[in-house]
Amino acid sequence: MLRQLTISELVGRLARREGSAREALQSCLDQIQRVDSQVKAFLSVDIADAQAQAEAADRDLAAGVTHAEKPLLGVPIALKDVLCHRGQPCGCSSRILEGFISPYDATVVERLKAAGAVLFGRLNMDEFAMGSSTENSAFGATLNPWDTTRIPGGSSGGCAASVAASECFASVGSDTGGSIRQPAALCGLVGLKPTYGLVSRYGLVAFASSLDQIGPFTKDVRDSATILQAIAGHDPKDSTSVPRHVPRFDAELNGSLRGLRLGIVKEFNQGGLDPEVAEAVQRAYRQLESLGAELVEVSLPHSDYAAATYYIIAPAEASANLARFDGIRYGRRVDGKDPVELNSRTRGAGFGPEVKRRVILGTYVLSSGYYDAFYLRAQKVRTLIRNDFLKAFETVDAIVSPTTPTAAFRLGEKSGDPLQMYLSDIFTISCNLAGNCGISIPCGFTREPMLPIGLQVLGRPFGEPTLFRVAHAYEQSTPWSRERAPLA
Ligand code: GLN
Repeated sequence: MLRQLTISELVGRLARREGSAREALQSCLDQIQRVDSQVKAFLSVDIADAQAQAEAADRDLAAGVTHAEKPLLGVPIALKDVLCHRGQPCGCSSRILEGFISPYDATVVERLKAAGAVLFGRLNMDEFAMGSSTENSAFGATLNPWDTTRIPGGSSGGCAASVAASECFASVGSDTGGSIRQPAALCGLVGLKPTYGLVSRYGLVAFASSLDQIGPFTKDVRDSATILQAIAGHDPKDSTSVPRHVPRFDAELNGSLRGLRLGIVKEFNQGGLDPEVAEAVQRAYRQLESLGAELVEVSLPHSDYAAATYYIIAPAEASANLARFDGIRYGRRVDGKDPVELNSRTRGAGFGPEVKRRVILGTYVLSSGYYDAFYLRAQKVRTLIRNDFLKAFETVDAIVSPTTPTAAFRLGEKSGDPLQMYLSDIFTISCNLAGNCGISIPCGFTREPMLPIGLQVLGRPFGEPTLFRVAHAYEQSTPWSRERAPLA
């Protein structure tokens, strides 16, 4: 079925003129019509704009433009509601940004357009990317296409659910503590968090600026490399983007794993891990060994502190970043007798409970008297966590672990307990604190019900080629990535 193809398969068809960009887009729009009332991945779709882009892509194809020139020509890709797409709403699934229309394109959007992608739709998320289940969206939760009584993960739940439901061929989201890898794992997809500084964040609404990175959700590893190729690279508009040569990410696909050393983290082995997840991941380790890799134990001694450190640093940065939503400059306004009242009324009505919790937490840990005890100390622990990784990467080429402690949980199961929710990121957040890259790939299913399980591969800064090499070799030797969700 057209909508179920990977990007590379779709591109092959378009190149051979066995189908058009319009048909590819229509297959997505039809699927949205068919299943999105159950999945609820999309906040909005500008059909006319998308069709105009698809027609332009078909004109390019007819004029002989090749996929060597525009690697994503005619490929429908959807965006998390946190990325600015000129002329489209950008609301971060928050009431406070209701009515806000992006005046410009994010750099990733500009680059995807230059690569020929047909960009359409705004994908649901946890409000301002704070959450792990998409239940914190002001517009209702997104549901998992493998089982609609369950969440798709978060915060980029719409990104994961839309690709898993074949409503788009890929999507682009953001990962601050796991928001790409965790939902990708729970929806049976490949999700990549690139190295801090590899992809420009210009036009990404900031959550925690020292942690945020933009990355793709795809059906397989090759597609992940294709999208990263299109969006990576220095951008003068983002001072944290690194001026550095971008390698060919597809060069390492089909590489052997012989001679590679992969680390298993000693500290990740303690309790809380669902037995079926543990079993699937153990099987994946054996598979990696049979492909020629050597698995060795490594230690990240400060892992236990990662969640605590993250939940000081991320809210601190969020409290500063979200100060701009003041009722004056963007989106929604609730009037008051003076600017102070206007500001507090707007923020009181515009932000949901999790965002308020983070702003209050962040303001607290930055306030004088608590700054040294919390924020400064968290920064020091962050350095220790980073150094743990650097040390581990002296002896291994990459680290493998489960992506999440459990498969997709039920709607409402953790929403009353923030701590339980925060712990669903236990394996993903240290990567952001360290600035490393990480990818999640499907590595099996639970039995009853059948839910996807993710394997995480973590690499050193700018180690994406190694991630792709490991992930691709594993994927090619196992059936998991070819499974499609019941709603696909
Ligand atoms: N779940 C984490 C949080 O709530 C991470 C979110 C993210 O990566 N954006 O902050």
